[in-house]
Amino acid sequence: MRVAVLGAGVSGLTVARRLFDAGVDVTVYEADAKAGGLAKSRVTDGYIYDPHGGHIFNSKNQNVVDWVFSVLPKEHWQFNVRNAKIFYKGGYISYPFELSLCELPVDDAVDCAYDFISAQRGDEPDNFADWLVWNFGKSIAEAYMLPYNRKIWAYPLEEMGTAWMRGKMPLPEKKDILRSLALKDPTERKMPHSTFYYPLEGGIQTMIDAVARPLTLRLSEPVEAVESRGNRWLVNGEAYDAVVSTIPLKALPAVMRLPERVSGAIDGLRYNSLTTFLTDCPPTDISWLYIPGTRWRAHRMGYQSALTPKAAPDGGGSGAFEIIGAEVKASDSLIKQALPDELRAGRIIDTQFSEYAYVIHDKAHAKNVSVTRSYFNGDSGFYSIGRWGAWNYNNMDLCMAEAFDTAARILSGAYGGDYADKNI
Ligand SMILES: Cc1cc2nc3c(=O)[nH]c(=O)nc-3n(C[C@H](O)[C@H](O)[C@H](O)COP(=O)(O)OP(=O)(O)OC[C@H]3O[C@@H](n4cnc5c(N)ncnc54)[C@H](O)[C@@H]3O)c2cc1C
Repeated sequence: MRVAVLGAGVSGLTVARRLFDAGVDVTVYEADAKAGGLAKSRVTDGYIYDPHGGHIFNSKNQNVVDWVFSVLPKEHWQFNVRNAKIFYKGGYISYPFELSLCELPVDDAVDCAYDFISAQRGDEPDNFADWLVWNFGKSIAEAYMLPYNRKIWAYPLEEMGTAWMRGKMPLPEKKDILRSLALKDPTERKMPHSTFYYPLEGGIQTMIDAVARPLTLRLSEPVEAVESRGNRWLVNGEAYDAVVSTIPLKALPAVMRLPERVSGAIDGLRYNSLTTFLTDCPPTDISWLYIPGTRWRAHRMGYQSALTPKAAPDGGGSGAFEIIGAEVKASDSLIKQALPDELRAGRIIDTQFSEYAYVIHDKAHAKNVSVTRSYFNGDSGFYSIGRWGAWNYNNMDLCMAEAFDTAARILSGAYGGDYADKNI
């Protein structure tokens, strides 16, 4: 069996490696000169930089955890307990904000706690903006949730749905908040991503390279044409029994013929873009810092040097700040516009623009995705998976889990059959 995998990010490499390990002849097509997709790293002036955002690994899926540590054994990883903070009124509040009210000025803490206890009355709103107020109360929403989310999405929160965030955002109960206040203890309780791993050396690229090691990668070879021919698929003119695409759905109409309803659904999918900037700064044990304040352009500073001690030369500190929207060019004044002075960021060492950063779960998302999913992932032998192939806010572990399932389907022959009704 010959399988073509389109894209050498986490999803493409995982599905390719699972198939390769089962004896399948797999070819991976990648437009970029380097594998990894969003999960890349490079070294600039001795600093390790994940240019599309710092990538930590954790998962609730034990199969994924076991597989990752079988590919890159545990001794190559640094285990970290998350120490995330929020920059609030010139100081640092522990994350998540709502469990850290004991660290706020007393009047703010009382307002936030009072509003939260009175919240969640009446019908649950179906738009994200109203839901934040409904769920957390007005004070927490206005102090942190609304300004932060407006920055990171750069999309009207009123037009976003709410189903996507379960499992992504901590959603503590009222009793948890009262307990944290009574105990004066902002400790997180079983929140998503409260512990994680990061490669000791080489950034997240070390995991990518370990997954890719035995694979045939066609780097700098973008997919330009995909066609069905008889019961096979042609990719750039070469024949395969099945194709797993992990490239953005928005790239597909340019390379393959699609029915109008499918290209229409793809057209309706929303996303945002991101520029990151690597800077030097004093060493810190903060994993990352959320910056909700509208005075600053960055919404987050990820401290690469807190993920592994080897991220910055000579025991120094480093962090990458992120700005959503069209590409931002580095300039002398940018650090002042982007970050609070208190962070003492030094010079910009490196920068990277990512066209595809976050999937936006607008209200039409579920409908559009159900059209694309049912079209591609049937029995035609063409699968579209991954963050941009499925168009879901999936982290690496969920991309891996989806890749496992897809490889298993291909291996079980579920892709086969008569292609006459493929409707392509
Ligand atoms: C700022 C940020 C921070 C993140 N942090 C984390 C984190 O800490 N932990 C975590 O688990 N997840 C994190 N994620 C999510 C993580 O990046 C994704 O889940 C994962 O990398 C998606 O992998 P993918 O293979 O599906 O997509 P991609 O990584 O986007 O891979 C798609 C690949 O397709 C290639 N391609 C595109 N067009 C073509 C073409 N025409 N021909 C051939 N190839 C093509 C691209 O070059 C790319 O290599 C983060 C994401 C962002 C944006």
